[in-house]
Amino acid sequence: MKAFVVSPRRAGSGHLTELPDPKPAPDQALVRVLAVGVDGTDRELMRGEYGEAPPGEDRRIIGHESLGRVVSAPNGDLQAGQLVVAIVRRPDPLPCANCAAGEWDMCLNGLYTERGIKGAHGFLAELYTEDPRYLVPVPDSLAGVAVLVEPLSIVEKAVEQIQRIQSRLVWAPRRALVLGAGTIGALATLLLRLQGLDVFLYSRGDGGRGRQVAETAGAVYLSADVQPLDHALAREIGPLDIIIEATGYGPLAFDAMHAAGANGVICLTGVSGGRRTLSIDSDHLNLEMVLTNKVMFGTVNANRRHFERGVLDLQAIEARWPGLAERMITRRVPLAHFSPGDLERPDELKVVVDVHL
Ligand code: BGC
Ligand code: ZN
Repeated sequence: MKAFVVSPRRAGSGHLTELPDPKPAPDQALVRVLAVGVDGTDRELMRGEYGEAPPGEDRRIIGHESLGRVVSAPNGDLQAGQLVVAIVRRPDPLPCANCAAGEWDMCLNGLYTERGIKGAHGFLAELYTEDPRYLVPVPDSLAGVAVLVEPLSIVEKAVEQIQRIQSRLVWAPRRALVLGAGTIGALATLLLRLQGLDVFLYSRGDGGRGRQVAETAGAVYLSADVQPLDHALAREIGPLDIIIEATGYGPLAFDAMHAAGANGVICLTGVSGGRRTLSIDSDHLNLEMVLTNKVMFGTVNANRRHFERGVLDLQAIEARWPGLAERMITRRVPLAHFSPGDLERPDELKVVVDVHL
């Protein structure tokens, strides 16, 4: 089969190759890949900045935002022909208390693996095998957009964590600010709009397709080129109950601490590759956090429940704004023509590699 492989820690090593077809073990499903989305993590993998190959191997198939169709599965688990999205993380082998409970997104010891990222092959290939417990069924009606379920699962976890954290008080959120008009920012905007919140999307430049998607869903766009994220902006839009940071630009996390309203929650989802340092008015920030009960937390990855929620919410997004999710996919490239350069295009919102149509 054709597969796209990358040698960890070697920039520019990504290439298409021919590998033997995988053979499913008796307890595994065989899945034919339809499409794979690529993201910032894949860009880091291609640049050799992140990730690990499977034990004993020197290269890894990349791709973690998958959509496929079951070819065969052990009795009773999944029907052949069923559309599925694969979960990314696998519990650590020990396992820690969280992994043992199916909450591998909260792994304590870092010994987890992630398909296509850390210690395991991904899905940018014609076929893969998998334990059915890590395959999430998707209705055929979502075939054109279900490649977005994985990034949506990240947002589902973020929003679930926000709700759980805020069960600490009587909470009726009205207003949210999302930082960054990339895939995570756009999906977070859609999810919060679905929940009836007033949503402001803040990003650099004109916001591109992410902004168009957000505005179609009734969000208001604010350009970072025009307004810094400060008290004045927060006063203008009104008390912010939720801020979701999705740029990975570290300094914004501190601006968000100022901008959040009383009892507000700030959720960090961006993986920052840089080494920026900052001097901050620490006493003032500390005082503000204390006197108005603010919370800031980080979130990564997602477990099965978040993927399942993502499938339901993607259906809700399709029902509420028909065709809008598809507008997030700005480019589709056939696997045979996919190259690392396809990841270095800041003008694209979501690039999807078509494997089998
Ligand atoms: C993936 C997550 C993963 C994270 C860190 C993201 O791109 O969506 O599943 O946990 O990278 O490796
Ligand atoms: Zn663990």
